[in-house]
Amino acid sequence: MVRLGGTLGILGGGQLGRMLAIAAAQLGLRVHIFAPDRDSPAFDVVADRTVGAYEDEPALLRFAKSVDAITYEFENVPSATAAVLSAHAPLHPSAHALATTQDRVSEKTFIAGLGIATAPFAAVASEAELDRALAVVGRPAVLKTRRFGYDGKGQATIREGSDPGRTWADLGRTPCVLERFVDFDREVSVVAARSSRGDFAAYDLCANTHRNHILDVTRVPAGVAAATERRALELAKTVADALDYVGVLAVEMFLVRRGAAEDLVVNEIAPRVHNSGHWTIEGAVTSQFEQHVRAVCGWPLGSPRRTGLVEMRNLIGEDVATWQAILAEPGAHLHLYGKSEARPGRKMGHVTRIFGHEA
Ligand code: AMP
Repeated sequence: MVRLGGTLGILGGGQLGRMLAIAAAQLGLRVHIFAPDRDSPAFDVVADRTVGAYEDEPALLRFAKSVDAITYEFENVPSATAAVLSAHAPLHPSAHALATTQDRVSEKTFIAGLGIATAPFAAVASEAELDRALAVVGRPAVLKTRRFGYDGKGQATIREGSDPGRTWADLGRTPCVLERFVDFDREVSVVAARSSRGDFAAYDLCANTHRNHILDVTRVPAGVAAATERRALELAKTVADALDYVGVLAVEMFLVRRGAAEDLVVNEIAPRVHNSGHWTIEGAVTSQFEQHVRAVCGWPLGSPRRTGLVEMRNLIGEDVATWQAILAEPGAHLHLYGKSEARPGRKMGHVTRIFGHEA
């Protein structure tokens, strides 16, 4: 357990690291951020920083020895990096959780092994394998790189009449997973925390809409049947327990309507705090960032109870130009990430609005 006033190490210096660091500071912890980019937004809010590559073992060692616990804000932490760090300080979520979730084939195999529905999928490492996978999975299908995909990058749809070999070439002929296109009604996510004692606390189900493959708006409640929401939260618990997970995770799912029935199909697991959980800063008793800090420090979890009807909207690229209008809006909670340049597709901030309060 991290002592009062101890130091938390965070790998990654983006907005998630920044919001984690702010939550840690509120709990009286020092934070040391390790990130490769000198301009990392999270550096602005911490006392200790290391600018270093994730492969730089001497720098990783110095970092690990200077902190009481380590976590990260992104799932692509190299396994060698996780091994070096976890030999010197407690690392949560574990190297095992990272390895399982950073490869789409191992992730889907793990989920399916728990008896949880995924889109039918097959691994693809050659053009011949792609043809065989298409015969099994059917069209339309989505081809995704096994690693390093985010915000729709590293994936493409194969429809009737499109040339699969060309699609694979466009993705760089890297190892991929092919999965059936899911004709979903909406996208939902469960953001939840599990402590080192095995306590589990899920936030209410989030309904997510995307713009250009990037999360645009999250609304809570998600507007699904109560039984569907219960199933979604239970499913996230099954995933967290099976990974012996410590920290906050998000499970992204598709909601598929078959007549009156609502089915859930898991798309992916994010072993970290998640954009669809940003609303919890103002909309829940304990934010996802505080919850993650509590969990990785070995502290008890807080209440995930929602306090109102919630809408969280991302400010992407030039959207950030509306910041003054948002400041003038009573009840709007503006978050800006301190990024200097508003490039298209770049997450610059978000705004949370709470409509009415629930008891
Ligand atoms: P991912 O990188 O797996 O989160 O996918 C990004 C987005 O692409 C998802 O949020 C969906 O909108 C869409 N998508 C991914 N996989 C599928 C699928 N199998 N069927 C339909 N849409 C998908």
